[in-house]
Amino acid sequence: MSQDQWRIEVDRLSCAGTGLCLGTANGRMRLDAGRARPVDEVIGPDESMLDAAETCPMEAITVRDATTGEVLAPSH
Ligand code: SF4
Repeated sequence: MSQDQWRIEVDRLSCAGTGLCLGTANGRMRLDAGRARPVDEVIGPDESMLDAAETCPMEAITVRDATTGEVLAPSH
């Protein structure tokens, strides 16, 4: 049984505040002072968060396995 938890990180220096991820990430991101921030830093697996990390034009979002620290998205 999976007990995976993902950690969402946003590089606020890279984020351009486009707001793109707010739509992609299905309510898991919000804007704070013109920069994106995760609503919750640790979440259960959510494919939409991978999409948001992959499509961020600044590659400012990193999704990690919260236990191992492995980068799940973006892939390079
Ligand atoms: S898509 Fe990327 S650059 Fe745009 S608000 Fe989200 S984190 Fe920032």
